[in-house]
Amino acid sequence: MSLDWLNDLLQERRNNGLSRSTLVAKHLDATTIEIDGQRLVNFGANDYMGLACHPDLLAAAFSEPAFSEPGASTIGSPSENSITPAMRWGSGASPLVSGYGPDHAALEAELAKFETTEAAIIFSSGFAANVGTVAALASGRDIIFSDALNHASLIDGCRLSRAKICVYPHADIDLLRVLIRQHRGTAERAFIVTDSLFSMDGDIAPLQAIVELAEEFEMVTIVDEAHATGIYGDNGLGVCESLDLLTRVPVRIGTLSKALGGLGGFVVGSHVLIEYLRNFARPYIYSTAMPSGMARASRAALKLVHSMTEQRRLLKQKSLTLREGIHQLGFEVGSGDSPIIPIYLGDAKEVVRYSQELRRHGHFVPAIRPPTVPLDRSLLRISLSVKHTDDQLRALLKSIGTLLEK
Ligand code: PMP
Repeated sequence: MSLDWLNDLLQERRNNGLSRSTLVAKHLDATTIEIDGQRLVNFGANDYMGLACHPDLLAAAFSEPAFSEPGASTIGSPSENSITPAMRWGSGASPLVSGYGPDHAALEAELAKFETTEAAIIFSSGFAANVGTVAALASGRDIIFSDALNHASLIDGCRLSRAKICVYPHADIDLLRVLIRQHRGTAERAFIVTDSLFSMDGDIAPLQAIVELAEEFEMVTIVDEAHATGIYGDNGLGVCESLDLLTRVPVRIGTLSKALGGLGGFVVGSHVLIEYLRNFARPYIYSTAMPSGMARASRAALKLVHSMTEQRRLLKQKSLTLREGIHQLGFEVGSGDSPIIPIYLGDAKEVVRYSQELRRHGHFVPAIRPPTVPLDRSLLRISLSVKHTDDQLRALLKSIGTLLEK
């Protein structure tokens, strides 16, 4: 059978201005990229704390692994195998076979300590952590209440679990309560699943009210702190910390790939939760463990991010100032103080045109379109890093101002 139908579907996306392709971006420093030979200030990365190119992470990634004696062993015979363990990149197997080493164990122990929980488990990505956790915890006899703007990985986890899924309008706690009253009794176990900081709109879930509902109706709260780890809470644990909910959310998920500057996902919670996930979370069991160098880099990131209190304050300040400036220009901009700043424009083709216009001015601001966001809710998404200078932010604001002249 031919694959022509794929072309038809792609053409439909093209016709609607929704087609996507990869850009080849060279990262020159914490805030500068080069695309097609043009240098651009990058407002399209999740490296909120500027850790992705921190020397400590790089040094840790390529240092001796946790188990090796300084200057010691080589693997295999001389010649091409005459390398130190530090130079071995791939972990070679899934964690339950032989891919789990001392660096993974150390990272999990340090994550549990950082997150003030009993235990932690690392996955090869945040996506895998979300899919694997939700799908493993909920079953066909259960019900999941899921925010309409949850990340795709949470949505896929809900689908894979085979539980009944009840999507509530974004952050609408009153409707959530109504839905819970209607449907909670139909299922054995019930879950509320939500991002803490939403990835496209940059707003925060009403977690206090969600936790109270979960407690009232005997449900399990699962919170994805992917974008909030490192930037919210006095110690950077996320929104659960800033709202003093750490002990009331039994399943907290995070990623090493955003503020922590690396790659990978994690779940923190009780011993029983983590042991259960090691036995039942399929993306954990059936996928190669992250390279040990990545685990070492993440350990270095955790150490740094813990004490970046001043940078967290600065990042929020930058966000508030930029949002105010964009609002003054007359655009509809998301509220709050997170580093994810959406400018709502509605029409997908318009958003692409504006994004290209900003590129001509030297700023990379991605156009976010359906299916990532709902129809008529296309937006320009500015992602801030604490490394963006005031001059860079002033220049961005000036370019955004010129969009109105077109
Ligand atoms: N959760 C949210 C809210 C996200 O935005 C993302 C990534 N965009 C993920 C999870 C997945 O994390 P990772 O990139 O580490 O796979």
